[in-house]
Amino acid sequence: MLTSDKTALFQRLPSTDSLLKEPAIRSLVEREGREVVTESIRSVLANLRREIAAGTVCENKAGDNSLDLAIGGIAVAIERTLWQSLSHSLVQVINATGVILHTNLGRAPLGRDAIEHLAATASGYSNLEFNCESGERGKRDVHVDRLFNKLLEQGVERDGTSDSPVQAKRGSAVSTIVVNNNAAAVLLALNTLAEGGEVIASRGELVEIGGSFRIPDVMQKSNATLREVGTTNRTRVSDYERAINDRTRLLLRVHRSNFEITGFTEQPSLGELTELAKRRNIPLLEDLGSGALFDLRSVGINGEPGVIDSLRIGVDVVCYSGDKLLGGPQAGLISGRADLVSRMRSNSLFRALRVDKLTYSALEATLLSYVKHDHDAIPILRMMRMSKADIAGRARAVIEEVNKVQQKLQTPSKLGGLNLEIRDGESLIGGGAAPSALLPTSLISVSHGEVSADVLNKRLRNHDRRIVARVEDGRVLLDLRTVFPEQDANLVDALASLS
Ligand SMILES: *Cc1c(COP(=O)(O)O)cnc(C)c1O
Repeated sequence: MLTSDKTALFQRLPSTDSLLKEPAIRSLVEREGREVVTESIRSVLANLRREIAAGTVCENKAGDNSLDLAIGGIAVAIERTLWQSLSHSLVQVINATGVILHTNLGRAPLGRDAIEHLAATASGYSNLEFNCESGERGKRDVHVDRLFNKLLEQGVERDGTSDSPVQAKRGSAVSTIVVNNNAAAVLLALNTLAEGGEVIASRGELVEIGGSFRIPDVMQKSNATLREVGTTNRTRVSDYERAINDRTRLLLRVHRSNFEITGFTEQPSLGELTELAKRRNIPLLEDLGSGALFDLRSVGINGEPGVIDSLRIGVDVVCYSGDKLLGGPQAGLISGRADLVSRMRSNSLFRALRVDKLTYSALEATLLSYVKHDHDAIPILRMMRMSKADIAGRARAVIEEVNKVQQKLQTPSKLGGLNLEIRDGESLIGGGAAPSALLPTSLISVSHGEVSADVLNKRLRNHDRRIVARVEDGRVLLDLRTVFPEQDANLVDALASLS
C-alpha cells in the first residue's frame, strides 16, 4: 500500500474526543470515570494505527473493508480493553497438574485458619511489635518463635525422651526469626556468621535452586569466601576437617533439593558434621530448603530431612522455606542457637529482609495447626495424605457428571468426540522436596477424536476458572490430588465444554 493511502486511512480513525461523545462510551465514563476510559480509547486507537502501518487493516477495491469493520467494533474493543485493565491480573487457578508445590502456581495454598487469621489481623491494627501487657514496644519474631519452641518440645515428647529436651541436648536455647524467603535466610545467615571469612561446603552440594539462586553466588553476595571440599560425588568429614583454618567461620550443609547423586557416592552424616563442628568450635549451618515439620515417612516418602530432626542432631542453625513442605506463606525461617540468631537479628540486612504482618499471621496460624496436630488444616498435607482410592472415586464421579451434562446438552451424533478415562499415574511433591518423591494417584485422561491435546489443554487454561493440566502421550492428564474437592464441579463444567 502506498504511504498516501495509509495517510488517508489514518485520517479516517475517529478522534479520542469524538469517541468520548458516543453514547456507549459515555455510559462507560459515567460508571468508571473519564481517565481510565480515555486510556483505553488511546490504547485501542494506537493498536489500530499499528495495524494500518503494518498493512493488516486496509481498504481494497474488492470491498474488503477491514478498517470499516474495525471502526464499527471500536466501542466493543474499548470496553474489552477497559475490563482487562480494571480486572485482577493475579487470579486463582485450578491446579490439576498433580504437582503439590508448584512454584509457578504459587507453591503452598494457605489453609482456612491461616486466611481467617490473616484477614482478622491485617484488616485492622495489630500487636505486631507491641507488648499489650507492658504497653511497650515488642518484637515481631515472638509470634512465630513461641510456637516453634512448642513444636520443638513436642517433637522431643513424641520421641519418648522428654527428660532431655532439645535445648538441654543442644546445650542452648533455640530461637526463630523470619525473613522474606529461604534465599534471604541463607544470605542473612552467611553474611552474619561468615562475612570476611571462609565457609566450608561440599562440591556435591553447590546447588542451583532455580530463579538464579546458586550457592556460590549467594556466598559471594554475603561477602564470605566459599571453600569447596571433596568431589561432586564423594565428600568425607575428613575433607571438611582438613580445610579448617583460622579464617574458617562456618561449615555449610545444603540439601540437594532438586537432584540426586546416585552410584559411587559418599556424604558425611549430619551427626559426623555436628561432632566436627562442636570439636572445632565452628557453627554448622544447614540450608534445608523445604523444611518439613511433618513426618513424610507417614506418606511413604523417606530421606526428606525434617527441621526438628536437624536441630535435635545438633545443627547450630537451619534455614528453610515457609511455602514449601511447611505449607505456609512465602517466607524464610531461621531457627537455631539463640546467640547466633540474635546476631542475625541485629544485622542491618535483617531490617531489609523482614516480613510484614500478613506473613506473620499466616505463618502463626499454620504453625498453630502443627502444634494442635491438625494436619488436615494445612492444604498441602491434606493433599499428600489423600489416598489413591479417594482420588479415583472423585475422578469417576467427575467423568460420570460430564457424561450426564453431555447427554443433556448434545445431539447423540455429536457424542463420542470427547474421551475421558481413568489412568494410573503419579503425583509429585515438587518445590524442592526429594526430587524422586512421588505419590501414586489416579488421573483423568482426556482426549478428543478431532482436537489435539495441546488445543484441549489450551481451552482448559482459557476456561473461566483457568485449569492448569499436563499433556503426556497426546493426552491431557488431570490429577485431582491438587484440585480442591469444591473445584470438581468447575472441572465438570470445563470438560463438558470441550466436547
Ligand atoms: C527452595 C530452596 C531455596 C530457596 O528457597 P526460597 O524460599 O524459594 O527462597 C534455597 N535452598 C534450598 C536447598 C532450597 O530447596
